[in-house]
Amino acid sequence: MPKTVQQWLQSARQQLAQFVPPDEATIEAQLLLMHVLNVNRAWLIAHATDLLEAVAANNFEKLVQRRLQGEPVAHILGSREFFGLTLKVTPDTLIPRPDTETLVEAALQKINGPMHILDLGTGSGAIALAIARHAPQCEVIAVDASAAALAVAKENAAALQLVNMECIASNWFAALPECKFDLIVSNPPYIEDNDPHLQQGDLRFEPLSALASGADGLQDIRQVIAQAPAYLNDGGWLMLEHGYNQAPAVQKLLNAHGFQDIQTIKDLGDNPRVTHGQIGSTNPV
Ligand code: GLN
Repeated sequence: MPKTVQQWLQSARQQLAQFVPPDEATIEAQLLLMHVLNVNRAWLIAHATDLLEAVAANNFEKLVQRRLQGEPVAHILGSREFFGLTLKVTPDTLIPRPDTETLVEAALQKINGPMHILDLGTGSGAIALAIARHAPQCEVIAVDASAAALAVAKENAAALQLVNMECIASNWFAALPECKFDLIVSNPPYIEDNDPHLQQGDLRFEPLSALASGADGLQDIRQVIAQAPAYLNDGGWLMLEHGYNQAPAVQKLLNAHGFQDIQTIKDLGDNPRVTHGQIGSTNPV
């Protein structure tokens, strides 16, 4: 018997709720059906009692099955919303997280003119693109060691018609031309190599190089903090996302490398998530 939009959503939600929290199951069921029908959430609500035609119902069931096999919703849809932007996402990039919007907000607060900004390990380009969109007076350079990820970032920049962002293939600072920045931002890999979360949920489908960073998760953060001062103008800022329990270690590293005014910001889940410091003109760099 044909079922309504609402009934299809309900049955998908029940299946998905077996392995994601109920509120996420609701959103995931909606996102998958919105994708199949190419409609927005308002349409689903307005047409809740419409019968779903067989082809759409069949396609929806297939997507729900893929999700039940573990494939991330962002990979099934090929996109993810981040800071109000729809970004292409592939298995070559980290899936942008709401936590990282905290980093973008903090970066935008530091911007007070036409600044030169660097995003290290840009992945899909999420951070660089959000900053470039909201600070059109700034030039943003986005680097990534992964050519495949950088291709996605370039596609996103082109689709959003952002001309103040440039992508460069570089392993952290290694291939950058000689230049200095007013603000360096990064969401580097910061999970411990043997963290069991890497074997769970969406993380299984994301590039390990974007997630894990040595035994203590701080290998890449250590390198970025050590090298950043040479690439910062006087008064320039370094701003890093990190693990919920890494703020003390990141603060200590920043302090050891001459950064001042070091502060940590909490994410929406109330976890210390972003730490930044400033290079002062009196510091050796
Ligand atoms: N915050 C992400 C997670 O724990 C990890 C992202 C990262 O390593 N930069 O799933």
